[in-house]
Parts: sequence; C-alpha cells; structure tokens
Amino acid sequence: MPSTRSQRIPPFIVMDVLERAKELEAAGNEVIHLEIGEPDFETPRKIREAAITAIQRGHTHYTHSLGILPLRQAVATHYLRRYGVTISPDQVIVTMGTSHGLLLTLCSLMDPGDEVILSNPSYACYPNFVRYLDGRAVSVPVYAEEGFVLRPQAVRERITECTKGILINSPSNPTGNLLPEGALQEIAALGTHVISDEIYHGLVYGEREHSILEFTDRAFVLNGFSKLYAMTGWRLGYIIAPPEFVRPIQKTQQNLFICASSVSQWAGLAALTEEHPEVSQMVNTYDQRRKAMITGLRELGFGVAVEPTGAFYVLADARGIGCTDSYKLAFDILEKAKVAVAPGIDFGSNAEGFLRFSYANSLDNIERAFARLSQYLETCDMLRV
Ligand code: PMP
Repeated sequence: MPSTRSQRIPPFIVMDVLERAKELEAAGNEVIHLEIGEPDFETPRKIREAAITAIQRGHTHYTHSLGILPLRQAVATHYLRRYGVTISPDQVIVTMGTSHGLLLTLCSLMDPGDEVILSNPSYACYPNFVRYLDGRAVSVPVYAEEGFVLRPQAVRERITECTKGILINSPSNPTGNLLPEGALQEIAALGTHVISDEIYHGLVYGEREHSILEFTDRAFVLNGFSKLYAMTGWRLGYIIAPPEFVRPIQKTQQNLFICASSVSQWAGLAALTEEHPEVSQMVNTYDQRRKAMITGLRELGFGVAVEPTGAFYVLADARGIGCTDSYKLAFDILEKAKVAVAPGIDFGSNAEGFLRFSYANSLDNIERAFARLSQYLETCDMLRV
C-alpha cells in the first residue's frame, strides 16, 4: 500500500495536460503546446560546449555535496554584479534544479505543523511541497485587478508563531507579474524568513527585477538555469542560504542526493561566466510574443486586467466567456481544439475561471492556436450552459 503522503499529494495538473497531449500526438493529432513552462530554444552554444569539454576532461564523478567551488563563486559574483549584494560562496548550495532547492530549503526550515505563507494563485507545486512535509500552506489571495500583487499587510495578518517562511516568486508563475520594490521591502521587513524563488529573473520586459537579498539577509534565494538559459533538461539550480542553514542543508543533500550532476555544474559555470548573445535574443523574442499573446487573448474575449511583464505566462481571465471550471475547460480545449493550456485551478482556488497561457512557443504557433481557439469558442457548448 503506498504511503498516505504519496497518495495524498495532488498531481501537477500542467503535467497531466502535457501527458494527455502527448497521448493525442501519439494517436496522430497535432497539438499546439501553450501549457508548459519550458523554453522552446536550444541551450546557448557555449554552455553546450562547456558540457562536452567537461565530459572529455573526465568531470564525470561525484562533486562536493555543496557543488563545485568555481560555480559557487560564480553565483556570488553574479549576485554582486546584478544586484550589488555581497554573499559568500560558502552560502551557495548547488542543486538539481530549483525544485530540488525548494525541497532542501523547506526541509531545513520546517517541522510538522509549521506554516509557510504564499500567494493564491502561486506556482502549483509550492503548497504541495509544504503539505508533503506535514506543514500548512497559508494562502493569501491576490487579485487580477491588482496585478496579482501580494499585499504585505495581508501577509502580516497571517503571521503566527508557527510561521517559518514567506514564499515569494517574482516574476511569478502563473501570473507573469512582478512584485514592486516597495512590496519586497515591506515583506522583507516583516522579520520572518523569506524564500524568494528568483528562477524567472532575467526574463523581464521593460522593468528591473530585485533580489530579496537587496532588502534582507533573512532570506533563502532559489534560482536555476532552466528558464533564462533554456536548460530545463540539465536539472541545475542553487540555493543561497543564511550561513547557519548551510550545514543542515548540506547534510540533507549528502544523505538524500549526494550532489548535483557534475557535467551540468560545469555547463552552469559557463552560463554564468561567459557572454551569450542567444539570451538577449530569447528575451526579445519572448517580449514580442508576450505582446501578441495579450492582444490575441483580449480579442478572443479573455480578460488581462494588468499586462504581465515577466516570465513567459499570461494568466487570462476566462470568467467573462463563461468559464466556471477551468480544469474541465482546459481538457475540453485540448480534446476538441488540440491546444494545450493550463487550468487556473492548478495554481490555487483564486485562479479558478482562469487559464494560463505560456508563450514559450513560436509566434506562428501562438497565432495558429488562437485561430483554433476562436473556432472552438464559437461552437463550444460547455461555456454556453
Ligand atoms: N519555480 C517556478 C516558479 C517554476 O515555474 C519552475 C518550473 N516550472 C520551478 C520552480 C522548477 O524549475 P527547475 O527546472 O529549476 O526545477
């Protein structure tokens, strides 16, 4: 009999949509993917070459559990150059992606019954991680009309003696919005540890993002290479942790995972230390798609109250076109229009009636998807009842 914990964890619905889409493709259908948060670009050339060189040089063994020192130094340099914050390489723990970083962070912070405050909607897996560790995910509703911004006052009201952290994500998945500098500052000032998932940093259009470390040392930064460097399959990320948490995290890493992939770490070093013209090209391309997607969604009747300026998502309001069950609607669109989108409910009850569209796909595909959606909406009985 599988454990209660493993039976209780909900699926990551976006993956269920993707897996159903793959089944449809295997049966000969052509599905357009707007559900997955995965860059459609190749990893930049110098990064791939660094990995090949690493293999040729025999960097194919376990590394230090905290990661190779040059990469940890490169992370510290990156945070100094980009945000003007001084951290020691000793505070950096290299992980197999940001997901792994979040697990290690929460393992080091939480005991059963402890609470983590997060926004609703938020990245689908966050509350599932917290509950998996027998903690309580305390959610703060955020609203489309306010750009889904987490209000510091609402966070403050939810702090109890069981609160172990405030989990933020700016730019955000699923909303694509950024937390304004003032809100970050106020959240940092609440005195509770802040866990700041900075994985979408660099994917920002026309604004400047801030690291939580600019405002407080009582913070864990989670970051990774999947999005900005199009490295999802390399499984590489890192934590920047307060010094007193490094040894507990290190021991957990040693026991549970040993270390991150050696080859990926050498590739990650090249990502942070070399120039990659591909990255700015990708950012420009995302921006063009972002604009086209917002326009197209509005033309189809979806609501986009505040235009997202980061990551590669639009969380579009489908309530105006009659959506009350985003799960059903997303799967119906997939089956009938062969367009894969993510249901808002995956990201929290406050995103019910919304669909998340990813623009990590070509303009051409986005336009074809919208043509299919337009036809679907004309004939759809689900939304009329
Ligand atoms: N955090 C957020 C907000 C994400 O959107 C994702 C990926 N969808 C992750 C973490 C996990 O990324 P990684 O590939 O680094 O594990």
